[in-house]
Amino acid sequence: MRIPLSNPDITERERKAVLEVLRTPNLSLGPKLQEFEEKIAKYVGCHYAIAVNSGTSALHLIIRAMGIGQGDEVITTPFSFIASANCILFERARPVFVDIDAETLNIDVRKIVEKLKSLKKIKDLKKIKAILAVDVFGHPARWDKLKEIAKNYNLRLIEDSAEALGAEYKGRKAGSLGDAGVFGFYPNKQITTGEGGAIVTDDEKIARLCRSMRNQGRDEGNDWLEHKRLGYNYRLSDINCALGCAQLERIDEILEKRDKVAKMYNERLSDMDEVETPYVSQEVNPSPSPNLSPQGRGNEEMIIPSPPRGEGIGRRIKISWFVYVVRLRGDYTQAERDKILKGLRERGVECRAYFSPIHLQPFYREMFGYKKGDFPIAESVAERTIALPFYNNLRDEEINYVVENLKKALKK
Ligand SMILES: *Cc1c(COP(=O)(O)O)cnc(C)c1O
Repeated sequence: MRIPLSNPDITERERKAVLEVLRTPNLSLGPKLQEFEEKIAKYVGCHYAIAVNSGTSALHLIIRAMGIGQGDEVITTPFSFIASANCILFERARPVFVDIDAETLNIDVRKIVEKLKSLKKIKDLKKIKAILAVDVFGHPARWDKLKEIAKNYNLRLIEDSAEALGAEYKGRKAGSLGDAGVFGFYPNKQITTGEGGAIVTDDEKIARLCRSMRNQGRDEGNDWLEHKRLGYNYRLSDINCALGCAQLERIDEILEKRDKVAKMYNERLSDMDEVETPYVSQEVNPSPSPNLSPQGRGNEEMIIPSPPRGEGIGRRIKISWFVYVVRLRGDYTQAERDKILKGLRERGVECRAYFSPIHLQPFYREMFGYKKGDFPIAESVAERTIALPFYNNLRDEEINYVVENLKKALKK
């Protein structure tokens, strides 16, 4: 058996939708682009959605639209896909990393406050322009706290929700929680357009600037050869958008399937002491996975007092499963983990260490002098992760095969 890490779920409807576009003259900037943007905006609950050719482009345009540039700094997480920090470098601004929370794997809001409080000079504080938080693996960051910090320190808030389409945080959809949010539609994401991404926002100015910059700096309605500002070609073709529309139309079904696969894994892994199943906020899931809190892993969302009556729904947090990442128990070394990955691959189970911390990537080490030990939580988590095969149509017997082989590989 060979089981891939991810596998796009494309139906006949999606194939038809793509072919229909190919029978029209509108392959770019046509009606499917508009339809896709309207559908995303409506689903997320934002005024504006701007589709672009990747999640990375979406992040880049937000940084530019916010006027973040040389000499500026943005607080962000070292435990993410590299694009969430690179977009800051694109504009010669500097990412200021803050370590993560060991349970949710999201940026630790207490450490953001510590960092800000440690800056005694007004000049240093003023360099910080924004917080870019990531909803890692589809689990929303602590947006109520992030908003409070952003308000107190007069910072912009960017939500990298590229892994979290459909996730919810206290009554709002992921992507809508900061000043601007980002989605990615690479084939391993919840929905795909082949390549693609989107910006969502309620801010008219950010929307207008992003729309212009994705299309060579043209303003809407102006002459094709008039370029109001520096722009890029970050357009997403109508062919991609047609695929995106058809995928988004069955997002509920897609998220349900992913939920089901995650629950099956949770069950099958519940008797394995060597691995911790993914963290699920207690408020997400009325029946948390059985492997949770064995050693009193504190649940940071539980410190929130229970909501006044009638507001329960508004306080819920819902994961949108992006990947299924287990963690080996603390006494496994990175070398042992890597051996387990190798063993699984040899038996046809594709798997990966997810993520490799951004600050330890060669060019970040070189540019900023980062070294091992700088962000110990992110590092110790990263040394013990194993992303298992995870996709909509992963079958029962495939999950059994993965789990059996994980058990075998774990035998030291
Ligand atoms: C996928 C992803 C992106 C966007 O990636 P693209 O490949 O450029 O679409 C951005 N941030 C995170 C955290 C991601 O996982």
